[in-house]
Parts: sequence; C-alpha cells; structure tokens
Amino acid sequence: MSENSQKTVSLKSSDYVTLGLKKAGIEVTKKEVEKLSSYMDGVLEWNEKVNLTAIKEPDEFVEKHYIDSLAALKTAEFQDVETVLDLGTGGGFPGIPLAIMAPEKKFTLVDSLAKRLKIIDELSAKCEIYNVETLHGRAEDLAQKEEYRENFDLVVSRAVAEMSVLAEYALPFVKVGGALIAYKTAGEKLDNELKAAAKAIRLLGGELIRSKKGEGDHTLVIIKKNKLTPAKYPRKAGTPKKEPL
Ligand code: SAH
Repeated sequence: MSENSQKTVSLKSSDYVTLGLKKAGIEVTKKEVEKLSSYMDGVLEWNEKVNLTAIKEPDEFVEKHYIDSLAALKTAEFQDVETVLDLGTGGGFPGIPLAIMAPEKKFTLVDSLAKRLKIIDELSAKCEIYNVETLHGRAEDLAQKEEYRENFDLVVSRAVAEMSVLAEYALPFVKVGGALIAYKTAGEKLDNELKAAAKAIRLLGGELIRSKKGEGDHTLVIIKKNKLTPAKYPRKAGTPKKEPL
C-alpha cells in the first residue's frame, strides 16, 4: 500500500489474523494463520445462512473470537492436558482456535444444536484441523454416559450459563485432578455469580482456585476438580437451569 494512496485497500483475512494476534502478543506460524483465516472465512460465509455469530467484520472476529478464545493458552491448566471438551461450542469457540494452536491435544466440541456442529465438521475438514471431534447432545445427558463422564482433562466453556449451572453441566465431564476454565466477564455481577456458585462447585467435587484477567474481553475462572462428582449430577436435562444448585 502506498502511503499517500487515497483508496481504501482491503486487507486479506490472513492479514487481520496476523496483525491482530501480533498485537495481542500471540506468536503464530504461517500454517496456523492459514487455518485461522480460512476458518474465519468459512464461518463468515456460513453466517449468511445460519446464525453462528453476531460478528460480521474480520477485525472484530479476530478480537472477540480468536484473541479472546486463546486466553486459555497461557494458563498452567492448559499446558499438559491431552483431552479438552468445549461445552456449548456454538460456532466453535473457544474450541477451534485452541485446537489450531495446540494440535497435539484432542478436542471434543459439544453442542445441543446439531446444525452448528455439522458446519464445524465441514469447516474443520476444509481447514485441515484434524484434532477436533464434534459431539451432539445436551451436557446433562452426555455427562451421564460412561464414555464421557469424568473422562476429560479439561473443560472450557464460553457464554453458556451462569456459574452454578455451568458447574453442573461441566464438572461431571472432568477427570479428578483436571479443571474447568470458564470464560466470564469480570465485574460485580461475576463476583455475585461466583458467591452464588460456591455451594454448587463444592457439591460437584470442584474447588475454585482463581480467576485471571485474560488477553481478550474475558476473565478466566478456573475450577479444579478434586473429588468425584456424585452420580446424581448433572440432574435431568433442563433442571440445572431451572433450579440451580
Ligand atoms: N461458546 C460459543 C457459543 C455460545 S452460545 C461462543 O462463546 O461463541 C451457547 C451455546 O451453548 C449454544 O450454541 C447452545 O446451543 C449451547 N448450549 C446451551 N445449553 C447447552 C446444554 N445444556 N448442553 C449443550 N449445549 C448447550
């Protein structure tokens, strides 16, 4: 771009990804940039037909979906895990960006809306993201199945439910010794939410260890699982939200 050019020069998707991540201090390889930008292109294209995200502009997409999702990358709880479940992944957040940046880990993306998961399947094949599997169902049902219960090193979740409800959805999936990372917005509301969730977290075998300001919009609330979750949790589909613990 010439400095005195009057014309608007449109940036490529990959430029938005490269510039945005650089600004946030996240190092990326060329291959990662390719995957992140073609996934973004795919979501924005699908979004014209199926509601995946309210965000339509690439710069905002990079900030709200990529930089925000990648906040967990630097946490100690993310480092050595092998299996990660993203609960209520929607259009693939935070699961897809984390999976692209951590190809050695295996990701399971859960949502109760099959249509969204089909799009994720199609886009992850197209973008050569091989460490992602989608799983359709409600958390309350899936977490009562032996193959998923207490079977993941880490659960991540953004914008799904208030903390006490989320704890009941998520902690049953976590192995003892593993953790839940919840993406939350800092503030008084969160302080109250955490206070209200203290009993639920304890009942479910968890322990709130800390909340950490992320790079993006969110604060990460980290809950360690140190005991098995009693078999009666999660209660049947719909109950956790209707009657929070
Ligand atoms: N995590 C994404 C999407 C948030 S919207 C993001 O931050 O962009 C919440 C998503 O959670 C929706 O896609 C909804 O279908 C899913 N969801 C809500 N309750 C659920 C439940 N009990 N089990 C599984 N998925 C659920």
